[in-house]
Amino acid sequence: MANDCIFCRIVAGELPATIVYQDDEVTAFNDINPQASTHVLVIPNQHITSLNDAEETDPALLGRLLQVAAKVARDAGLAESGYRVVTNTGPDSGQTVFHLHFHVLGGNPLRLPLG
Ligand code: IMP
Repeated sequence: MANDCIFCRIVAGELPATIVYQDDEVTAFNDINPQASTHVLVIPNQHITSLNDAEETDPALLGRLLQVAAKVARDAGLAESGYRVVTNTGPDSGQTVFHLHFHVLGGNPLRLPLG
């Protein structure tokens, strides 16, 4: 755990969050500033800075994060209407929290383009 990381502190229960899914490896919680009707963040419980660290990360954990993203979307009723899963990596992407997270967005038509 990184003590100065807000997402590590959410996993540890030290900061409040509306958690919609949690297991030994993964936590999913509502984004505090939602950009869509449903906006959930899916994160590894262990501190990983971003997708840039994917080579050093257990590929099973990376796969698990996407499986949980799909579960969260399904549980929110988005399986038919559709949803977007996105991760920002580094300054140009606008990443603001440096603990790997996948945004799950849906519940209304989503804007394009992304870039
Ligand atoms: P990023 O810009 O891709 O790094 O996304 C970070 C996300 O974390 C943003 O959508 C923020 O609204 C969200 N966020 C920041 N702090 C908190 C919090 O304490 N709880 C839930 N979401 C947060």
